[in-house]
This record gives sequence, structure tokens and C-alpha cells, in this order.
Amino acid sequence: MNEIRSTKDWQAIEAAHHMPPFSDYKSLHQQGTRMITHASGHYIHDTEGHKILDAMAGLWCVNVGYGREELVEAAANQMRQLPYYNAFFKTSHPAVAELSKRLASLAPDGLNHVFYANSGSEANDTIIRMVRHFWALEGKPEKRIIIGRDYGYHGSTILAASMGGMSGMHEQAAKEADFIHIKPPYGFLYQGNQSEEMFAATAAGWLEDAILAHGADKIAAFIAEPIQGAGGVIIPPQGYFEHIQEICRKHDILFIADEVITGFGRTGQWFASQTMNLSPDMMTLAKGLTSGYVPMSAVMVGDRVFNSLKEKGGEFYHGFTYSGHPVAAAVALANLDIIESEGLIDTVRNDTGPYLAKALAPLADHVMVGEVRTFGLLACIELVDDKNGPVLFTPTGAMAEVVRDHAIASGLMVRAVRDGMILSPPLTFTHDDIDEVVLKLRAALDKTAQEIGKA
Ligand SMILES: *Cc1c(COP(=O)(O)O)cnc(C)c1O
Repeated sequence: MNEIRSTKDWQAIEAAHHMPPFSDYKSLHQQGTRMITHASGHYIHDTEGHKILDAMAGLWCVNVGYGREELVEAAANQMRQLPYYNAFFKTSHPAVAELSKRLASLAPDGLNHVFYANSGSEANDTIIRMVRHFWALEGKPEKRIIIGRDYGYHGSTILAASMGGMSGMHEQAAKEADFIHIKPPYGFLYQGNQSEEMFAATAAGWLEDAILAHGADKIAAFIAEPIQGAGGVIIPPQGYFEHIQEICRKHDILFIADEVITGFGRTGQWFASQTMNLSPDMMTLAKGLTSGYVPMSAVMVGDRVFNSLKEKGGEFYHGFTYSGHPVAAAVALANLDIIESEGLIDTVRNDTGPYLAKALAPLADHVMVGEVRTFGLLACIELVDDKNGPVLFTPTGAMAEVVRDHAIASGLMVRAVRDGMILSPPLTFTHDDIDEVVLKLRAALDKTAQEIGKA
């Protein structure tokens, strides 16, 4: 199929007919879309013959890398045997039963029940519905507000976007009632000269302030990504979540961990909840669940909420045609097998995670860099106009796009969030891959610095 048309032809078709997500159609179609034809291992390939090292694992999801025959086989076998059947008619199938048991055994204690959807957004919409229903069953239907955080990302359906803290999304018809947002524990912007310990208490205090301002009797839940991904890899200070969980318990507010990015090994444990000692009431999973080979998401539901639904709820009027899709479940199981049999989680914790931190650390001395932070296989390099202050670039985000475009032109896929360069590579990344990332990123920074007269 790739040979039939030229890049220009593909781009013309794109411009005429395809509306990609999160895109400015005017500028995208002026520049032309990059057409990706195939991928293997850690590289993607385009119609122009470029080979690009994928330090974003697709969109934070291709955790076991590209070209995994085990996943292809699992999907093909399941399609032959049972390509689809629903779970609405008092029916289920072995793949989803096995997967549910497996997820319950891997998840933090108490998260023993799984509700499936097809995307992180749908899973979070499910959570919104389920927690409000839960509180109604508990005789507290006025507990409806969910607290999220600025720069939090929980998906793009209207309610998931309202729950998230992306102001641009709120401005486009995604600012529903009963969601409020607190500032994130974003040390680079807000810590000032506080110690880490003090900042942890300050930032958690923002939650308690919000609870007291609105009344705990109105608040259903607090949702947080253990590390805010799309918001710019914001890593909380030590102790933050201890305070947060204490505050949630004190005011009887459910605590929800959105582990769509942090799940399945990225932080050096199966879930960041384990790395950070969290006991969430519910947990959102997607992306790494199938390494992105097919869509699937899941809500892990704790015993408290599940038992209430079971004992008092009657029918839960919610679900999707493809909830617990057999092909996705089979691929997820094969994906978990790979993570386990190749010891990827131990590798991230003991080897590649620390190596990434060490390899990136020297970039902190670069004239354009204000901070380098990493956690497992997540990283952000914050760009600054002046290291003293620090003074940020204006307008926000333009400089990171320049660096990103230089990186991509040199064969490295990275993402720009505000003025941060974001990395979230496959968990199979090697030392050599990491060395290549650092080399190309430094070159992109040097080139940009030169262009703006900083070098
Ligand atoms: C990507 C993401 C989502 C949304 O998932 P989709 O599959 O794109 O709907 C939700 N939460 C987090 C933390 C994410 O990173």
C-alpha cells in the first residue's frame, strides 16, 4: 500500500479528508503530515525514508517496543477463535476472565475488580459515573464534586476533560460543573526556596484548602496522576501523596490514581501506586495495558466501591459494546507475559531508569536548560530563557517546538509540553538507545541556542 502513492499524494488526501486529534488543521496541512509506514524495535519509519528513534513510545504506550510477534499471534489466534462477543448478556469469555484475575493480582491491595473500556477517557468517564453512583448508594448524593489538578490530563471526552486541568480544553466546551482544580506539586514553578518536605506539605495543603472551601459533604473524590504526564512530567516531592491520602481519609473523599501512563512498569514497579506507596480506591489503566497494539482501558475498582455497587446498586447502567473485547484482552495477556518474562520492570528500576537519570543529568548545565527531572523511564527537560530566576521563554511553548523539530529532523522523536522536552521511551530501551537520545537532544539544544544567539 505504501508504494502506491507519493508522500505529496498522501498529504493531499490527509489535508482533504482526515482530521487528526489535537491538531491545528491550517498549519498542519500547510506543512504536510508525516506519514509513518512501519516500525520495528524502537524505530518508526516514514514515507520519505526517515528512520526515527521513538523516545515517546508512540504516545506513552508502546512499552514493549514495535514488531512483537507474540502480540500479533495472540491477536490472530483470538480472532480465529472468538473475534467478538459481548459481556452484556450474562456472558463473558476466557481471555477477559484471565486478564481480570491477572490485573487484580498485580494491582495494589484491595483493587480486586475490573471494569473495561476502550480508552483512558472512557475509563475516567466510567470512574466519574461510578463514584457519583457510589455516594448516592451510600446516602450522600450531594457528594458529586471531583477535584483534579491544573495540568492534569484525564482524557478528552467532555467529562474527562472537565476533570483534567488543561485550560485550552476547558475553553472548547469541556468545562462542566462539579469539577474543581488545585495547583499541582510542580516544584520547578512553585517550590521557591522551600525544602522538599515543606513543599510536599504546602502542595498537599492546596487540596485541604479546596475541600474546606467547598465542603467535604459536596466532594466525591480527588483524582491524580502519580506523575502528571501530558501536563509535563510533573514529579511530586517526597511525602506529597502521604499528606494527600491522609487528607482524603480524614474527609472521607475517594482517592483515584490515574495510572494510564505510570502503569505497567514505567516507574520501576507494576504501578506507581506501589513505587509511591499509594492505596487508591480506584485506578485508571490504558496505554501500556496492551502496549498500544490494540485499544483497551480498565478501571480497577476497590472493594469498598465494588461492595456498595454489588450490595445496594442493582443494575449498573453503564458500559460499551467493546468492554472487555476478547482480542484486546488476549493482546493484554501476551503483553503482560512479555513484561514479566523479560524482567522489564526490574530493568527499569535497577538499570535503565537510573541510567537515563545519569545520562540526562549533564544537560542541566546547558545554557537553555532550567531543570532536568526523571522518574523511572519518564523525563522532562525544562527550557529557560535565563537560568537565573529562572526566566521562562515567551510565548510559552514556541522554543520547545523549535528544539523538538530539530530533534525530529535528526532522527529523534520527543514531545514538547509548554517549554519542556518530554521523554517516555519503551521499557525495552537500552543504554545505547539512551545515549542516542542524549546525543541528539543535546545537538538539538545546541542548534537552537545558536539560532537565537545564546551560544
Ligand atoms: C492518555 C491519558 C488518558 C486518556 O487516554 P485516551 O486513551 O487517550 O482516552 C487519561 N489519563 C492519562 C493520565 C493519560 O495519559
